[in-house]
Amino acid sequence: MKRILTGLKPTGDLTLGNYIGAIKQMVSMQNKYDSYLFVADLHALTVKQDSEELKMRIRKFIAMYIACGIDPEKNTIYIQSENEYIPAMSYLLECTTTYGEASRMIQFKEKSKENANFSVGLLTYPILMAADILYCDADYVPVGIDQKQHVELARNIAERFNNRYGKTFTLPEPILNETGTKIYDLKVPTKKMSKTEENPVGVISLFDTLEDITKKIMRSTTDSIGIIKYDIENQPGISNLLTIASSLTNKSIKDLEREFEGKGYGEFKKYVALVVTEEVSKIQDKYSKIINSKELDEILDKGIEKSRKLAKEKEKIMKEKMGTIR
Ligand code: AMP
Repeated sequence: MKRILTGLKPTGDLTLGNYIGAIKQMVSMQNKYDSYLFVADLHALTVKQDSEELKMRIRKFIAMYIACGIDPEKNTIYIQSENEYIPAMSYLLECTTTYGEASRMIQFKEKSKENANFSVGLLTYPILMAADILYCDADYVPVGIDQKQHVELARNIAERFNNRYGKTFTLPEPILNETGTKIYDLKVPTKKMSKTEENPVGVISLFDTLEDITKKIMRSTTDSIGIIKYDIENQPGISNLLTIASSLTNKSIKDLEREFEGKGYGEFKKYVALVVTEEVSKIQDKYSKIINSKELDEILDKGIEKSRKLAKEKEKIMKEKMGTIR
């Protein structure tokens, strides 16, 4: 069985966009692949974080993914920072990476321009990401387009290491998840719904109350055409609501168009609000049962044990090949 690895950066609250665009796909992929899922808390540290908030978010993220259907029996779930072998491997990989390569990363170039006091971690974190991927010989890494270059860097580093020291790593491949369903902001339906959006009126957080969700949907931007039809150019708001409703029911967009033929936007919005609140309510029920449970700690303990064992072995092999072992 091929191995797939996903890292989750614990920033912002997970949105309906994350759920429909990424988490639902992960839930369906967990049956096909040996799945590894971790909270990339060390990656979050490249920029300044509130430590109390970060600590809380790490746990919230994992609990929410499980509440959304990630099965702890089918996934190895862990917190990145609990595996000390990964940063150790990262240093060994840094010595196999050129400064030119690291500084050519688009994310580094863009983010270092935004803030003159950027951390060294901003330059080196793609190499830490290479360690995240290579220690467990992941075959596939699902990423957005912005992270594709980093998976390619991991592949290049692995290839160079293999050539220099003999076969050590599986060469990972990025899987672009851009082809998945994209959910747009409810207020500005030409913009992607994002968990880091400052003005949350168009963003449905999975932590929103059901009342707030209904309000946001009822007040979402539409148009003056008055027909419920999927037309992303002329009716982006209605098209977005159709995508949301179709993704959460077994109905196709065509079926929904037929069902709401001749009906008003108000009635359609009420229906979408009902579909979304029913789904989110189930997720929130499950979340509240997990968040403070012993079971969550057991899942994380089991995950980190497996992850550390693999990373420990891989780091030892690397050190033996590089000559830094007694
Ligand atoms: P982010 O929230 O940007 O860190 O993205 C985490 C994952 O969720 C990525 O796989 C994104 O492609 C996916 N995602 C985030 N926002 C949306 C959205 N509005 N529609 C679809 N997928 C999304």
